[in-house]
Amino acid sequence: MAHIIDGKAISLQIKDELKEKAERLRQEGREITLAVIQVGNDPASCVYVRNKKRGCEYIGIRSLSYELPEETTQQELLDLVGQLNQKKDVNGILVQLPLPDHIDEDTVIRAIAPEKDVDGFHPQSVGALSIGQPGFVSCTPAGVIQLLKRSGIEIAGKECVVLGRSNIVGKPMALLLLRENATVTIAHSKTRNLKEVTGRADILITAIGRPKMITREYVKEGAVVIDVGINRDQNGKLCGDVDFQDVEPVCSAITPVPGGVGPMTIAMLLGNCLESVHLQPM
Ligand code: NDP
Repeated sequence: MAHIIDGKAISLQIKDELKEKAERLRQEGREITLAVIQVGNDPASCVYVRNKKRGCEYIGIRSLSYELPEETTQQELLDLVGQLNQKKDVNGILVQLPLPDHIDEDTVIRAIAPEKDVDGFHPQSVGALSIGQPGFVSCTPAGVIQLLKRSGIEIAGKECVVLGRSNIVGKPMALLLLRENATVTIAHSKTRNLKEVTGRADILITAIGRPKMITREYVKEGAVVIDVGINRDQNGKLCGDVDFQDVEPVCSAITPVPGGVGPMTIAMLLGNCLESVHLQPM
């Protein structure tokens, strides 16, 4: 029987640690503030934004909410980001993605001051990660590292296969595993003999957005399987990229969906908000 990695419990543990850290910062006279910008009212984004604000409340971070109408122009959004960049009492700026089609996400991400880029998406943050310098790290991959470490799973020297190469999950995931001294392979939709590649992994991390595609044929016996995917199955039920029922009996540890990687993303975002004090002058 595989160990089921409980992302809810681990994220709560982290949030409680952050709560204490936020309290210590407050005693030193540092109030942490996160500005959350949402354009339009995509239902999934509304849920994410609400959860992020609740997370802030839980650990004692002030959140400022900017709910802009769908028809907001790119320039109006850039102006708001520019104003928030200037505000000394705003530590972190988060623009909830996806943005409406008429707004270019890359332009908006690049407009956020790197020292306030708590999502870790700015090219400077990504560059810093790739050359091992201080900067914000993308929250979901950072959460995966915490799940592994806090579950006592050794990363150094392991064969790790990251399935998916997106800028927000796959690529930073691979860089973080490399930083932890793993031997890393990135696989994607053009990878040949995928089962053979994923079958080499001691630690397999899937981030492809394909409901239950990963069955036991893709997994080495005894591997650790981390499922980043958040999808809906044919019955509309939430599921990961991994066919949990099929894979769980052959692996040594596995994350469920929901309740695995998902809750870690917000915990890492809150951690980045507190981390911002080290990147910003008083
Ligand atoms: P993207 O769609 O940006 O990237 C998907 C990646 O998977 C691409 O690199 C693509 O390859 C690869 N891929 C797609 N199909 C296959 C296939 N059949 N075989 C091999 N590789 C394939 O997705 P994201 O990275 O943004 O998200 C991935 C999943 O993670 C989604 O389910 C998303 O909802 C979830 N997610 C979860 C988060 C969390 O908090 N838990 C946070 C962010 C995302 P190629 O590059 O060749 O096209």
